[in-house]
Amino acid sequence: MTRRTFLASSAALAAQGTPSINAARLRQRLEQLSAFGRPAGGSFADGVTRVAFTDPFVGASKWLVGEMKAMGLTVRVDQAGNIYGRRAGTDPTAKAVLSGSHIDSVPSGGNFDGPLGTLAALEVIDTLRDHNIATRHPVEAVAWVGEEGVAFSRGLFGSNAATKGLATKDLAETWNGMTLADALRKIGGDPARVAQPWIKRGDYAGYIELHIEQGRRMLRQTSQIGIVEGIVAIVRYPVTVLGEANHAGTTMMADRRDALVGASELVLAVNKLAQSLPGNQVATVGMLTVKPGAANVIPGEVNLTVEMRDMSSATLEKMTAQLRAECDRIARERKVEFRWTPVALRDGQPSDPGVMKSLEAAATRRGLKPQRLPSGAGHDASNMAAICPMGMLFVPSQGGISHSPRELTTWEDCANGANVLLDAMLELARA
Ligand SMILES: [Zn+2]
Repeated sequence: MTRRTFLASSAALAAQGTPSINAARLRQRLEQLSAFGRPAGGSFADGVTRVAFTDPFVGASKWLVGEMKAMGLTVRVDQAGNIYGRRAGTDPTAKAVLSGSHIDSVPSGGNFDGPLGTLAALEVIDTLRDHNIATRHPVEAVAWVGEEGVAFSRGLFGSNAATKGLATKDLAETWNGMTLADALRKIGGDPARVAQPWIKRGDYAGYIELHIEQGRRMLRQTSQIGIVEGIVAIVRYPVTVLGEANHAGTTMMADRRDALVGASELVLAVNKLAQSLPGNQVATVGMLTVKPGAANVIPGEVNLTVEMRDMSSATLEKMTAQLRAECDRIARERKVEFRWTPVALRDGQPSDPGVMKSLEAAATRRGLKPQRLPSGAGHDASNMAAICPMGMLFVPSQGGISHSPRELTTWEDCANGANVLLDAMLELARA
């Protein structure tokens, strides 16, 4: 879409009484937030290092609370340090509609992964105020703590704690010279009250998160709004391949039982299988160790992991069965043995079909090309799927790059995403 048609469609929508977000204000907030954790002497393009619980993160959190207060929101920090800002609705019995993301980053991360969704939620609320739009449900913005999993090696920290509670024994874990209890106190949380989950099923009327895609599916389809079908299911199998370690100089090729050769065939089979099926499934062997691991010894044992992701657990089960059949063939031909360790499947978290439709219709109304796709990465939204109708939308990542200072989403795409978020939030909040 060209800039002209973009402006034309927002003008047409304004004529119909549909409000649009203030793109300049959203950009300004993204630039302001980027100053917390910016490399010394750098600029916006140099990215951020704003790991949860560190000083730049605390600075950013204080700034966010200040913004929410200046907007007139009721601000609350929960026991895990998650920050909420609420705009009241007209019906005191109606549950709030929630939107947000995270403001922590990986070391040397970008300025869009997390901040866009968090600040777009603020922008939605500001837009309602600009246009004097009252909603029946309260509208609330949230910044979840520690989504990236750098601190204490725990991804989705804040949303996990809020919806599932935290084991009290974990509070003694240390990272970066502080215990988890100290870390929580540092950001205004309360370690004494984190054991019990405090967000329960039915506490919210809906949750929608805007995020950058962090991939290339949307670029490939030249779509502008990704309608996330859900967070994918994951299976991960540790596999042991057993052969026979022997002298690499004296053992004839025909006599060998080379575990690494068998493992190599499996690695290729995993890659081939994921590409041969229709759909969005992905499969990876990301870890492999060879024993005994000497240049002059035929490998006797290989340990590797097979990881597969798809929205459908049934697809993953089918892929597993096919790979195991393939292993039977390799085992016969290579005279090796495969041992698969069964692991629990992490189920996919599907988005709410109603919210997906609402996002899709909003995108189309605004003249934007939508595309349905799964989220291959974990997001806080997956925890909210157990609480209320959950939806997620993506905007394109230039080059598919994220977790890097080079992470980039155009200002126009940021505004597009925030506008579609606004429309879908309004639909939920007015219901
Ligand atoms: Zn993120």
